[in-house]
Amino acid sequence: MTMFADLHLHSHFSDGTYSPEEVVSHAQKHGLAALALTDHDTIEGCVRAAQACAAAGIEFIAGTELTAEQEGNELHLLGYLVDIDNPRLLAETAKFQMVRQNRIREIVARLNQAKVALDAEEVFALANCRAPGRPHVARALVQAGLCSSLDEAFERFLRRNRPAWVPKFKMSAADAIELIHHARGMAVLAHPGLNRFDEVIPDMVDAGLDGIECFHSKHSTSTAEHYLELADRFHLLVTGGSDCHGMNKGKPLIGTVKLPYQHVAQLKARAARRAAEEGSTRSLNGSQ
Ligand code: AMP
Ligand code: ZN
Ligand code: FE
Ligand code: FE
Repeated sequence: MTMFADLHLHSHFSDGTYSPEEVVSHAQKHGLAALALTDHDTIEGCVRAAQACAAAGIEFIAGTELTAEQEGNELHLLGYLVDIDNPRLLAETAKFQMVRQNRIREIVARLNQAKVALDAEEVFALANCRAPGRPHVARALVQAGLCSSLDEAFERFLRRNRPAWVPKFKMSAADAIELIHHARGMAVLAHPGLNRFDEVIPDMVDAGLDGIECFHSKHSTSTAEHYLELADRFHLLVTGGSDCHGMNKGKPLIGTVKLPYQHVAQLKARAARRAAEEGSTRSLNGSQ
């Protein structure tokens, strides 16, 4: 029997609407054999997702989706199989979360300047997580009756070049890759088809990029094929996932992308190989 995975899922620990347990129960309904939780700039949901997966007989891959940039372009780096107790990963994601919270205050201040009477506390109460983002502001605007839909909130206020748009702090792609590796994870470029600046990929490969998310709910078949070719050319792992945010964007996307399990096996094999190599380097260095 062919087994499938979804390696890109959000929960309410960032801007998804499902709890980690709900994510897992939907995965179970879709017959997935493995899943990764990849909340933006946090790994907090992983403990609960791992427990729910264990109870459901689903293999769990600890993950996160770090916000990064390369040559001024925002891109997202998925970290898989990361050590969720790694002190530096915890410290860096905590910093990201602080920056996200300050950004919400700034977005709300700009809304207020535009005579939109929203309180940052309303956004924080609704978000109820440490990594809030624009989708939470959009939901708060709808909840307060100030916009009729999330799309309207983004169109009128939150998109780039709109009155309440505030840029987000990002670490460099190379730093994000290094951080993921430091936490013993594998670094994968998320949804490159949404960014469409493939010219940054060779530099990221030089920085240690391990894989590329070829399959994504917003990638067409030809986009997926294009990135499969790139993955082949640069000897990168192939991953995929739905990028489901629960009910955030109308209908849940979980189940729309089913990654053949062989790619999960390859991801784990490469991670294990690296761990073994690092182990032997350490023992070669003896007790230093
Ligand atoms: P942030 O991380 O705060 O910059 O927010 C990014 C999130 O906003 C991503 O999950 C996007 O998918 C989401 N987003 C961007 N544009 C829209 C839109 N027009 N409607 C709904 N969500 C959007
Ligand atoms: Zn998101
Ligand atoms: Fe993303
Ligand atoms: Fe995502």
